[in-house]
Amino acid sequence: MAETIDMDDRKTFNGEAHMDEPMANGLNTHTKSSPEPLSRRVLKAVKANLLVILTVAGVIVGVLIGLCVRNVALTQTQTIYIGFPGELLIRLLKMIIIPLVVCSLVSGAASIDPKALGKLGGWAMLFFLVTTLIASSIGVAITFIVSPGSVAVNKTSGFDDTVPAHKEVVDSFLDLIRNIFPSNLVSAAFQSYATAYKLVNKNGTGGNITVEKVPIGTDQDGMNILGLVVFAIVFGVALRKLGEEGEILIKFFNSFNEATMVLVSWIMWYAPLGIMFLVAGKIVEMEDVGKLFASLGKYIACCIVGHAIHGLLVLPGIYFVITRKNPYTFLWGILTALATAFGTSSSSATLPLMMKCVEENNGISKHISRFILPIGATVNMDGAALFQCVAAVFIAQLNKTSLNFVQVITILVTATASSVGAAGIPAGGVLTLAIILEAIGLPTSDISLILAVDWIVDRTCTVLNVEGDAFGAGLLQHFVDRTSKREGAELSEVAFEGDVSAAAPEHSPLIEKRGGRDDAEGGKAELSTNKESVM
Ligand code: ASP
Repeated sequence: MAETIDMDDRKTFNGEAHMDEPMANGLNTHTKSSPEPLSRRVLKAVKANLLVILTVAGVIVGVLIGLCVRNVALTQTQTIYIGFPGELLIRLLKMIIIPLVVCSLVSGAASIDPKALGKLGGWAMLFFLVTTLIASSIGVAITFIVSPGSVAVNKTSGFDDTVPAHKEVVDSFLDLIRNIFPSNLVSAAFQSYATAYKLVNKNGTGGNITVEKVPIGTDQDGMNILGLVVFAIVFGVALRKLGEEGEILIKFFNSFNEATMVLVSWIMWYAPLGIMFLVAGKIVEMEDVGKLFASLGKYIACCIVGHAIHGLLVLPGIYFVITRKNPYTFLWGILTALATAFGTSSSSATLPLMMKCVEENNGISKHISRFILPIGATVNMDGAALFQCVAAVFIAQLNKTSLNFVQVITILVTATASSVGAAGIPAGGVLTLAIILEAIGLPTSDISLILAVDWIVDRTCTVLNVEGDAFGAGLLQHFVDRTSKREGAELSEVAFEGDVSAAAPEHSPLIEKRGGRDDAEGGKAELSTNKESVM
């Protein structure tokens, strides 16, 4: 019973399938007949790349509008009104996140054989871990070289943002684990667990009263996406295990997912306008930029240059070395999503558009993108890890604390771990920065400096976060394609174990039979020796 997952789902925006070569829209136009006039070709290219052009233009026009409107003395209310079209974009994207993440992961996990799922997940995690560690190392190295904390920064004036409440390192990690197992799925859609503390008086020996700081559980606003991701994957695996009984629900999630993606394709056309007003609104409302740059300019530069090195050299380099494909063509294909990440400062909000871009422009199969991208958007944050390292070393320099080797390793490891816990929302990484500072004994009050400029750093940070996920999906696609080729089959094969009738139904809605051997007899006859094709 050889079965394959239908991989024929990789299409460009124009509806053409590209199985082997990832190509960005409009870059793959070959003219076989007589050469077309230049104007026609330009028009064609513009049409093919219209969304990308509009999105990039949205960012540029947004900056220009913001700079012009800044000079007019606007009231706070008027500034809020200017940001309204941008606010609408964020609302639309947020609205789509939960159905998209849950449905895509349930149907993704249900469509892949558990063994292959483990293999794919394992490769993805390895890639995410290695690249996040590299990003952290770049952050540490660049901050040691530039030494942004050696200049005098007046910590008391101007930087009055609220600092996250103090939390013990161990409690931060326990909260992360608790959130993996939400106690209530409905509340996980809008709340997550967070430890707070209460002080309890205790009568000690000899009449002494000691005060104990006891951790207590509280619910804080904000979706527990990690819990939803884990539940959806496990639920998808369980549905597959059910066999025929689970099919109806798999079909349900599958078509829910498809309908959500149609909504995403509509939202995409609103994105350029929304991004334009998001950027313009931010520029209008920002405080005296000159003052911020004068004192924290070197810190900002370290973060942005670090993000650029990782995003434009390291990640593309890894992709090129492994796939031998042009990484910049890949980046061009996801430019709309990258601009959205820049405009919204949120990986979660960018997820819908990123899925659309990688599937339609970069030839990534739905089974891979819809499985790996939601996981990546939740746990893989190269940009966050990099800026957290810069921030930690910067704060150490400000406090004239010289870091020893063990402390540097502690920064690298905790930044990598705490980036997993960072939420894919604006300033999500600053909140977990406290974990790193606590771990090496630096004052968490200095986070107010980082918060003051986070609205700039967070943008390039989010771009890098989502770029890492997309390259992860690209590499997995390559891994799957290569395995298929090596085994001489269209798709890779994994030895099958266990009860086939239960685990892999004959007519699973997501699985297409190969070689026309779909009769129960033929299928059963092959069971003992056969393998099941997975991807
Ligand atoms: N804003 C980032 C994101 O959504 C998280 C962060 O602040 O680092 O990916």
